Amino acid sequence: MKNLAILGSTGSIGQSTLEVVRQNPDKLKVYALAANTNISVISEQIKEFEPEYALLVDHDAALALEKKIKALSLKTKVLAGNDSLNQLAADNAIDTIVAAIVGAAGLPSTMAAAEAGKQILLANKEALVMSGQIFIDTVKQNNASLLPVDSEHNAIFQSLPAAYQQNYLNEQIHDFGVHSIILTGSGGPFLNTPLEELASKTPAQACKHPNWSMGQKISVDSATMMNKGLELIEACWLFGVKPDFVEVLLHPQSVIHSMVRYLDGSIMAQMGAPDMKTPIAHCLGFPQRIKSGSEHYDFINGPQFSFNRPDYQRYPNLKLAGEAFAQGQEATTVLNAANEVHVDAFLQNKIKFTDIAELNAKLLASYSPNKVTTLDCIMEIDHETRRLAQQGLN
Ligand code: NAD
Ligand code: MG
Repeated sequence: MKNLAILGSTGSIGQSTLEVVRQNPDKLKVYALAANTNISVISEQIKEFEPEYALLVDHDAALALEKKIKALSLKTKVLAGNDSLNQLAADNAIDTIVAAIVGAAGLPSTMAAAEAGKQILLANKEALVMSGQIFIDTVKQNNASLLPVDSEHNAIFQSLPAAYQQNYLNEQIHDFGVHSIILTGSGGPFLNTPLEELASKTPAQACKHPNWSMGQKISVDSATMMNKGLELIEACWLFGVKPDFVEVLLHPQSVIHSMVRYLDGSIMAQMGAPDMKTPIAHCLGFPQRIKSGSEHYDFINGPQFSFNRPDYQRYPNLKLAGEAFAQGQEATTVLNAANEVHVDAFLQNKIKFTDIAELNAKLLASYSPNKVTTLDCIMEIDHETRRLAQQGLN
């Protein structure tokens, strides 16, 4: 039995994780659930999975949840706030953390799990984009382990040799005959939209991804391809490579989730229906295979595969992410924070779709923090960028 803590349990990844748990009751046990404010969803999850702990970051919501749980005579202990979240992530009884909080908010608890030597299943790419080398070093120093849930990185991981997978954070990918990584992306809902129409696209249109069903923030990031930019950075940290080792390829059908090219000309790909339950189950079962509850992909009735290069005029955020990575860790932290504020402003109809990338670029050009090496300094850069971004919106 593996004891799980699902951080971000009420979200899209959190709910998919619980579906995989339902498929494997003899292997996986939910020890803790954590989310931000959503009382109704987490209370249903508590009723079904009866975890030891449930946590809401919002104190008022946690109080209301506690009352509800008592009234139902359930034994789950209710916790509140960020400090408790970080403590919970390090709880001795937990084997595996599913890091599925969205955005920078997920970094401290993911780092706490790394410091406590947990197995971390990482969905929260923003945490890695912000903390990069510090996070990877923390994982290594504390004998924690890290498996990528993000479908592309999970596909790359699956396409690499078993000998590399066993200890990949300490290996050199170049020692395994790898030529390069192909990171695929669908291009999002506006792949074929005339460029002059992009400015008038609404949040509802941006969140309507053609293949994947996801939370709002990552859906907007998919439409601007900032998501692929963050994933490019994520791939560089996870697999210890430079951006020029990673080729970004548009594959609108989202069936090939990413690939690895070898020196001999072979290409290994991981495929499947676009369903996050597959990479989640891969990580939860690793190195074994377990059921995910996802539909098996049907090649005969599925669409023809096609490929293309991303166009930076359509996806300026993708270019920006590459530029920020070249500038260094502090610049990717700035870009991530600016993007979170601007995506939020777009979702609230305060700015246009095309403003997201424009304002991100402006902020990145105007604020170049000094080099830093600690998590506290990273969080300071994150906060300062948010302040500057908000100021720019007022
Ligand atoms: P979501 O918006 O559906 O869910 C977010 C979860 O985070 C919720 O449980 C929410 O309660 C929690 N949360 C939000 N703010 C919080 C805060 N301040 N403190 C604590 N908890 C907070 O998001 P999602 O689509 O599930 O994505 C989660 C993460 O996984 C993101 O980093 C995303 O990039 C990554 N990811 C998602 C997918 C996908 O298919 N959804 C795929 C790959 C990677
Ligand atoms: Mg992805």
